[in-house]
Amino acid sequence: MNLPFQRKLIVLFIFLSFLLLLIQGYLVYGLKISFLLSSLISVGIVTPLAYMILRYFTQPIREMMDRVKRLTGSKSNRDAHVYSEDELGRLSKSIGEMGTQLQKKIDEVSKERDYLQTILKGMVEGVLVVDERGRILMVNDALRKILSLSSEVVDKAPLEVIRNAELEEAIREAIQKGKSAAFELSFPSSGGKTLEVNVVGISPSPEGIGQEGEKRKGAIAVFHDISRLKELEKIRQDFVANVSHELRTPLTTIKGYTETLLDGALKEEVGPRFLQVIQKHADRLTKIVEDLLTLSKIESKEFYLKWERLPLSGLIDDVLDFVKEAAEKKKISISRSILPSSLEVMGDRSYLEQVFINLLDNAIKYTHETGEISISALEKGQREIQVVIKDNGIGIPKEDLSRIFERFYRVDKGRSQELGGTGLGLSIVKHLVQAHGGRVWAESKLGEGSTFYFTLPHIALDAGQNPTKP
Ligand code: ADP
Repeated sequence: MNLPFQRKLIVLFIFLSFLLLLIQGYLVYGLKISFLLSSLISVGIVTPLAYMILRYFTQPIREMMDRVKRLTGSKSNRDAHVYSEDELGRLSKSIGEMGTQLQKKIDEVSKERDYLQTILKGMVEGVLVVDERGRILMVNDALRKILSLSSEVVDKAPLEVIRNAELEEAIREAIQKGKSAAFELSFPSSGGKTLEVNVVGISPSPEGIGQEGEKRKGAIAVFHDISRLKELEKIRQDFVANVSHELRTPLTTIKGYTETLLDGALKEEVGPRFLQVIQKHADRLTKIVEDLLTLSKIESKEFYLKWERLPLSGLIDDVLDFVKEAAEKKKISISRSILPSSLEVMGDRSYLEQVFINLLDNAIKYTHETGEISISALEKGQREIQVVIKDNGIGIPKEDLSRIFERFYRVDKGRSQELGGTGLGLSIVKHLVQAHGGRVWAESKLGEGSTFYFTLPHIALDAGQNPTKP
């Protein structure tokens, strides 16, 4: 029956009244039952009937309630039946469809939210999202880590959390005028970090294209930690500046003396002395270039060690032959502790010789005439041998000790250059020892002497462990 609900109720009311009268009339006039009893009997018959019919009519209402209940319990009733085609039935049907659609949308949104959260969690870049009032909606884990944010940040102004006026301004501009910005921020407080920040407004249109100058729904700031890049850039710049400076000094000297010689000094008495100066500086240039090439070789991908078992005693003998002349010139004695012939290290012979030569060369250079140098080695546990080279030379000031392994770092530049140093010797030592899987360090007392230590492995590192790139 496709009657409107109101009419259904009127028809039902008339039908039930009519039925009541009919039963009552039959009971009173037909069966001669008293009025009171017949009223009771007819009400008794009509009431369950009325109940059943009303139940049928109100079925869609109960159904709607069911659906709403299930919806609020976030479950749609996809397979519920619609029993009638009146307004309530149609409404019930619409609510059912709406529920299905809503559930679909909720599923989609929560899926998207999960994706987004996974992306934000996995990002190395820090992300900060603010609403249209400029208050923080969320920050991801990476940003918390980069800026060491520990407290709750939601609903705070960015300035309260990241104390930077430039960022605050960029976020405001992004929200109010839709202006994007990219800039660098330095945080001396958090370990001198440098961050590259990109700020964009969240578009008010659903297509995501907002006009410039239009107010936005909020803004997103993405932070890239570029501290390491900056550090590398600085190292590279310093290195280029240092190399240029190191090369310029001997080149200027060579050029100056050559010009003087060409201007006529060649025939004069000073001629040979000038040529000696030129030769000395040309040698220095060669040494710098050789050391630089060695360093670049160690740092290149092609660098590898030719591992072999080397008796330490024999290795030291060979090296001593090499530095003997320089030591004798300064009447410096080099003593070495008696090493058991069984004491062997694993390493690359030529590179280990270079380590010993650089350290002994320094010990000779920075020790006065008639000074003393000693070499010793001892086993440190099962895996390591520690070599010690000790001198009683000029020593190294405490504040310089941690920096002497840096490229071109010299305690006394003039003295080092005078002695033919390049400032790269210890840097080469450090890289080579590390390539062998060892460590190098120094102890010193100014005016009393220095002791250099390095460790070498007893056994070779296997290919996978080979730290060819220190
Ligand atoms: P250099 O070519 O100048 O010797 P190195 O890298 O070998 O460069 O050493 C860096 C600096 O460390 C030297 O300039 C010197 O000041 C200091 N140094 C190294 N070895 C010794 C030592 N045995 N005694 C005193 N100072 C040393």
